[in-house]
Amino acid sequence: MQETIKLYEEDSLLRSCEAEVLSCLQTDKGYEVILDRTVIFPEGGGQPSDRGTAGGAAVTGALERSGRVVHYCEQPLAVVGTKVKVELDWERRLDHMQQHCGEHLLSHAFWQTAKAANVGFRMNEEAVFIDLDKEVSPAELLAAEGLANSQIWDNRAVSVSLLLPEELAKLDLRKKNEQLKGLCRVVSVEGGDGCTCCGTHPPFTGMVGSVRITGAEKHRGGSRIKFVCGKRALLDAQKKHEAIAAANMLLSVKPEEVPDAIRRLKEEMANVKAMLKRRTEELFMAEKPKLLEQALISDNGTRLLLLAREECEPSEAKLLAEIVTEGEALALGVFYRSGDRLNYLFAANPGAADCRVLCTKTSQALGGRGGGNQLFSQGSASFQGSAQAAIDTLEKILL
Ligand SMILES: [Zn+2]
Repeated sequence: MQETIKLYEEDSLLRSCEAEVLSCLQTDKGYEVILDRTVIFPEGGGQPSDRGTAGGAAVTGALERSGRVVHYCEQPLAVVGTKVKVELDWERRLDHMQQHCGEHLLSHAFWQTAKAANVGFRMNEEAVFIDLDKEVSPAELLAAEGLANSQIWDNRAVSVSLLLPEELAKLDLRKKNEQLKGLCRVVSVEGGDGCTCCGTHPPFTGMVGSVRITGAEKHRGGSRIKFVCGKRALLDAQKKHEAIAAANMLLSVKPEEVPDAIRRLKEEMANVKAMLKRRTEELFMAEKPKLLEQALISDNGTRLLLLAREECEPSEAKLLAEIVTEGEALALGVFYRSGDRLNYLFAANPGAADCRVLCTKTSQALGGRGGGNQLFSQGSASFQGSAQAAIDTLEKILL
């Protein structure tokens, strides 16, 4: 069977064509259709495949097999030999061209400004990722982003040339696939990047719109750069503007003052928390003598105090335990509700009691789980009654 004429290689702006059906095979995933020509780019070189329609049937993806483009169709196509109209999902193609060409521009920019080489490329629905062979600084990120965008504003021509392997060998390209056999496809930006590539690119860099780096992290001794181009860069800016505008409203400050306002709020919150802790400590100290009077004494002389707090934060329960047990030969149990679980903690000074034993007995009685050591143990149970009801059932068991 003849190879498919790949119209997308000659003209990346062509959105439709007439094609002859060469074969249509039913598989368990739908129909595999081969046409004599197509505008549908099959996945390759890191770029996902186009979508569209062929003869009215939805084309959900495509791949290249032995020079032929296999279209995955949801319905069978007309009889072999008939002509059908192939139409491209242009919005998806434009998005892929913006991301892929942006990737060439940004990779070239990192190579120029930071001598960092692109060693990996991946594109998904959300963003594009490139891996660089060295770590790049925040200043280098800005420099590369600036250079890539200035080449977009120059609206430079993007050209495709087909070269023999010996011609390719003579060229000084940023990235070269030496494994290619037969004619090699080279994508070049006027006065800029050049690399072997099978993807679709716009004829001029202006169509990329803009390149915006949205993340950078250390990766395998180098950097992984996350970025968006074209319409995705606009959507990203709009989404972030919306978030900042909401923060402006909440904080009643200008956009550029948001970080300082949040810093101030965090400081205030830390001060309030510290003051609340001091006040709570004072309150527990004042309460302590009265609480100690409620301690029970077991047959072997152990002093056990069980306290109920219907609503309490875990940090508050720990503070209460610290203050009440300080300087006392006493085992203390605090029962408190936090969320939909009943929590319990046991604290004792050395020699007063074994908190692990108290905690295990409590977990068995209430159907909970917990653990710890001799001096401090804690657990929780889905017990539905009040904290005081739990203590009433436990008093005899723990004494
Ligand atoms: Zn490429």
